[in-house]
Amino acid sequence: MIHFLLTPNLLPMHLAFSVATLISLSFFCTTVVMINRERLKQTFVELCEIESPSRKEGEVAWYITKVFRDELGHEVVTDDSSQETGSETGNLVVRIEGTNGDTLAPLLFNAHMDTVGPTEGVKVLFEDGIFRTDGTTILGGDDKAAIAILMEVARCLKEQDGQLLPPLEFLFTVCEEIGLLGAKALDASILRARAGYALDTTGTFNLINRAPCAIRFSVKVHGKSAHAGIAPEKGINAISLAARAISKVPLGRIDPETTANIGIIRGGKATNIVPDLVEIEGEVRSHSEDRLKKVQDQVLAPFHQLQWDFDPKGEGPVVQVDVIDDYPVLNVPEDHRLVTTAREAAASMGRELKVETTGGGSDANILCGKGIDTVILGIGMENVHTTDEHIALSDMVECARFILEIISKWGLR
Ligand SMILES: [Zn+2]
Repeated sequence: MIHFLLTPNLLPMHLAFSVATLISLSFFCTTVVMINRERLKQTFVELCEIESPSRKEGEVAWYITKVFRDELGHEVVTDDSSQETGSETGNLVVRIEGTNGDTLAPLLFNAHMDTVGPTEGVKVLFEDGIFRTDGTTILGGDDKAAIAILMEVARCLKEQDGQLLPPLEFLFTVCEEIGLLGAKALDASILRARAGYALDTTGTFNLINRAPCAIRFSVKVHGKSAHAGIAPEKGINAISLAARAISKVPLGRIDPETTANIGIIRGGKATNIVPDLVEIEGEVRSHSEDRLKKVQDQVLAPFHQLQWDFDPKGEGPVVQVDVIDDYPVLNVPEDHRLVTTAREAAASMGRELKVETTGGGSDANILCGKGIDTVILGIGMENVHTTDEHIALSDMVECARFILEIISKWGLR
């Protein structure tokens, strides 16, 4: 082997390989020592202690602008989505210039600025390496951990000037927790990247490449009110009509890819009144857009049948059906550069990437629907949307390293 390596033809290739290995190794080593745990910890605590329920993300947006624009010198733009979302601020986009002109594809990272409640007076406790609260509020690591990690990543990139770097865009959205409103209102033309990672799920070194599309529906079933004791024959019982239809609606897990649910029913005013109105709300989700449409039709068919049975001449509304497209499908194949880059990045840290499917929708679905391939990465947060929410600093440090590795692997292609 030595003999072959030293032959004149193979020597330059061997040297080139060594240099490339050294460069990538030295980068790997620098990323390991570079993360500033104390700085990451302090940033995270400051972010969590800013209350930011949906539509009240203004102060977090100001903090983000302060770090990325004032401290690090990057461009920060705000879109005009607040008119649509009703938030104090628009979505923010941070633009970090690449170091090699336009030869490397831009890469997006996404996090949301709002949290669920309760948020009043969030006080972060740090014990045994774990962040949590006293149990009266949520922590807000969902998704402040992602924001803090991206800040640490940007600070590290600044400190290691000269590294080959793709153009980066960090998108911080509003109103994710109340129906992905910020992402939905985003004008995607302000982004150059056409691929990205949303940092917004539990676990570490896991990547979600499949999430369902969904619709929501509401149905109003109209009857006719009458006194239930004196003249019941003059009434039409809307609860009875609705029950007749609901008993025929397919619900639960319809097939391995598709689920359907009726989650809300309202109707009736008193026991002595024949009810004249029932309102029903539900949803259908599927990993297949085709199946979504088919199951949506099956779910709504019994209500249309009710209309037909009780009002064949179309004289008055018996049933009114409304359908809202909630979010589009997220389906990024495993051989997509987003997945292979993350897998290589994890492997370079001695970790194995877990590729997963989820049953819920997030900003990543909306970005996919706007033509930006997006997968979701775990950032270590646990028990989110509860007052027992917590996250380990060591997991956040690992995640920041992982992101730096992804950026370096993306850049080296
Ligand atoms: Zn989240």
